[in-house]
Amino acid sequence: MLSEKNKELQEKILELKEKENAMILAHFYVDVDIQDIADAIGDSLYLAKVAKEKADNFDYIIEAAAYFMAETAVILNPKKEVYISGLETFCPMARMCPSNIIDEYKRKYPDVPVVLYVNTTAEAKTKADVMCTSSNAINICKKLNNNRILFGPDKNLGLWVKKETNIYIISVPKNGYCYVHNKFSVKDIEKAKSAHPNAIVLAHPECKPDVLEKADIVGSTKIMYDYCKTSLNKEFIIATEKGLADRLNRDFGPDKKFYPLLDSAICKAMKSNTLQNIYEILLKKPKRNRVIIDPEISKKAKIGIDKMFDLTG
Ligand code: SF4
Repeated sequence: MLSEKNKELQEKILELKEKENAMILAHFYVDVDIQDIADAIGDSLYLAKVAKEKADNFDYIIEAAAYFMAETAVILNPKKEVYISGLETFCPMARMCPSNIIDEYKRKYPDVPVVLYVNTTAEAKTKADVMCTSSNAINICKKLNNNRILFGPDKNLGLWVKKETNIYIISVPKNGYCYVHNKFSVKDIEKAKSAHPNAIVLAHPECKPDVLEKADIVGSTKIMYDYCKTSLNKEFIIATEKGLADRLNRDFGPDKKFYPLLDSAICKAMKSNTLQNIYEILLKKPKRNRVIIDPEISKKAKIGIDKMFDLTG
């Protein structure tokens, strides 16, 4: 339910956004009240595509997302100012994969290509042959035509790619994970299924393999969203950050019902984005919200991102 305060902030933001000619990009995991005033809402691949294709039409970009997504917008638009609307948006999984660890694996497996998930720092991205997202990880790995791949930082996503492609995946680091998705268990699915026996279970590939085994559909948030939009089913259990179920309920409820697998599946980094911060960025562009990357790192990090787009269009 939209509070009076947020309604007022939304109105002010929409007015200022026009005046400032700023583009707001929001991930499905941020608060739905932020999603409602965004120019584009989606998963990391979709937001990167919008940042790449539409940024020229705007004077600057505001990302309501994780820090690595805002960095991707900077890498793709080095001349454009990019601001992040949260102050604690650093993804803990990105921290698990510092560039020196990737170097160690590269030394050990010199002939094996490196595929990195976009959930990494800009510096880690400089070590990748190609980047991927949860939407295109399988496709990217297949296109490399190699029977071994160094893949990081999400072990669960790597194991899912391995299962779907038979490619031997070497996880970098050994046990990287997203704390939001890794907490889901088979028991949680069974409990949700017994409460909602007619519901379809959709799970994000960052979940553990035994959880994915129990899901009817596995895919990125965008894939889940599109599936729910067109499905004739009326009930869905959503095994990812709670924000996606909130979005789906807002867009397709009450006719369809979307149950988050766990109400506690909350990403603190994503939820640190606020309408108040967006408003302040539009008003005075505070330095603390500006996302800046060393130009040399940015240039190198772009190579793997460009390769991802080349391979998948
Ligand atoms: S949901 Fe997980 S992977 Fe995504 S930003 Fe939050 S902690 Fe990182």
